[in-house]
Amino acid sequence: MTDDTRVLGLAGLQALIDALGLRGYTVIGPTVRDGAIVNAPISSLDDLPRGIGDEQDAAHYRLRDRGDEALFGFAAGAQSAKPVLFPSDELLWRSRRTADVTVIDREVEPPPGPPYALIGVRSCDLRAILMHDQILLERTAADVHYAARRAESFVVAVACTDPAGTCFCVSMDTGPSPRGGYDLALTELYADGEHRFVVAVGTDRGAEVLAEVAATTATADDVAVAERVITEASGRMGRALQTDGLKYLLYANVESPHWDDVASRCLACTNCTLVCPTCFCTSVEDVTDLTGVNAERHRVWDSCFSEEFSYIHGGSVRESTRSRYRQWITHKLAAWEDQFGSFGCVGCGRCITWCPAGIDITVEAAALRGTPRKTSQRS
Ligand code: SF4
Ligand code: SF4
Repeated sequence: MTDDTRVLGLAGLQALIDALGLRGYTVIGPTVRDGAIVNAPISSLDDLPRGIGDEQDAAHYRLRDRGDEALFGFAAGAQSAKPVLFPSDELLWRSRRTADVTVIDREVEPPPGPPYALIGVRSCDLRAILMHDQILLERTAADVHYAARRAESFVVAVACTDPAGTCFCVSMDTGPSPRGGYDLALTELYADGEHRFVVAVGTDRGAEVLAEVAATTATADDVAVAERVITEASGRMGRALQTDGLKYLLYANVESPHWDDVASRCLACTNCTLVCPTCFCTSVEDVTDLTGVNAERHRVWDSCFSEEFSYIHGGSVRESTRSRYRQWITHKLAAWEDQFGSFGCVGCGRCITWCPAGIDITVEAAALRGTPRKTSQRS
């Protein structure tokens, strides 16, 4: 935290949401829906999950009453920022057959409309956004739709103060405190008197918006309390992943019998890849109407767990669930580093929480080191 560190009260946070709305942003934040915390458009503090926490473990997610007024007192929700910035179904182009059947009118979908302001982005998900920037913007062919959304997006990150049983961002060195890539970053303080948010400024744009709301300069005590709650959160991670030599461990275990053990449990349902904030694999679907005149091309999320994903000229390269799980975890924890210079996992724990079979990436990686597989931590 720096000399720029400011403090907002509850009214100030509402003013921040209002200021972003007035600037034309669609403000997206955490809300409760169907027993889970999901992202949705918000306009008021009343839209946030006040006093709601979560319990997460392998194949287990429940909301709980925290008994306090915390607005961000939960861990990684069911969704990351991925569905906002990189939607699961994106129209790439439309075509219409004309009188001359060799001519196709092609209409490229314009860049998406109002920019998004994302409120409450966790440090793990922030790191995942930066990975998507690297993958979708900085390689030979940039994704123009992602680029348009990302260029205009405004990010208000929030430090995690109450990590879940499936969190392991400390192992992956991605959290629990946001470390850049945000416009503003909040640390919520509610246990020592006044409910307030210590605000770090990450960009000039963030400073401009913050100047429009009633923020005061943080006291040394505010900063010390914020640092203490983050340090305490770091010590309460529900999971850990030993990362030393992990890449070589995975490459050395290509033929391990352990993959058969995982395959006996894995349903190849693709949940783990869909909830993962870093997974970015897609396929292309072409659809026509019944007249055969109009056609559309969509880019849709795909998964290395589907048999069709690795179909190449007459067959699937990865026919077995064994080979698909091995591919997924090896890409996340080994090959990603060769491709992009970091692990492909940010330790959000979603793949553990939302796997119907309770398969746990930390446990499976540990098993390759010879550490026995444990059952759920939940009693
Ligand atoms: S690891 Fe779990 S979530 Fe992933 S495909 Fe297998 S059963 Fe589904
Ligand atoms: S692999 Fe699992 S824990 Fe890692 S970033 Fe993806 S969903 Fe989160």
